[in-house]
Amino acid sequence: MAGEKILIIEDEVKIARFIELELQYEGYAVERQHDGRGGLERALSGEFDLVILDVMLPSLNGMEVLRRFRQSSETPVIMLTAKDEVTDKVMGLDIGADDYITKPFAIEELLARIRTALKRKKASPHNTALITVGDLQVNPDQHSVNFRNEPVELTKKEYDLLKYMAENRNVVLTREKILETVWGYDYYGDTNVVDVYIRYLRSKIDDRYNVKLIHTVRGVGYILKHE
Ligand code: CA
Repeated sequence: MAGEKILIIEDEVKIARFIELELQYEGYAVERQHDGRGGLERALSGEFDLVILDVMLPSLNGMEVLRRFRQSSETPVIMLTAKDEVTDKVMGLDIGADDYITKPFAIEELLARIRTALKRKKASPHNTALITVGDLQVNPDQHSVNFRNEPVELTKKEYDLLKYMAENRNVVLTREKILETVWGYDYYGDTNVVDVYIRYLRSKIDDRYNVKLIHTVRGVGYILKHE
């Protein structure tokens, strides 16, 4: 893993310094930024393989940094928060954080999450082929979705979920499998989040265009198919 570059955006200098030392010990190249604006600017340089981003930051909060960063970058982001705020967690993941860790945390846990995020980044193929399911088109290259050539506006997580289902069209996907792949870790072990996002997708596609693409397989999960 040596040599991968990690940016830490954290205003509490002691914590930032602590993480920096641990990461350097693991062989990562590390840079620290202590406010939102400076951090965003450095993150956007494209030099980093991963960003660790605190939520509570001066000048520009972590959510806003993430939102702006995601407009032009897919680099993995792990968010840090002072308390286990479920709303922060959901919001961060929805804006496009790859993972979330609550302070205080064990450094081993952060290291494990960094390794997972970097591995996922490497594994995510440059699969840019257009995926078509009936009138639905998912364009990974442009991160866009069309239905009957009309753009469908989706949040980052809605897109990730739909793309995953489209890649596995005509295959029954269990809630657990969806959770693991799209959310990437045990989301409180609670698959309800999958049901919630399925509802979002249905309202934006099935309901809006009066079609049936997302099917429930009772007691198991979901399947995306065109009938
Ligand atoms: Ca802070």
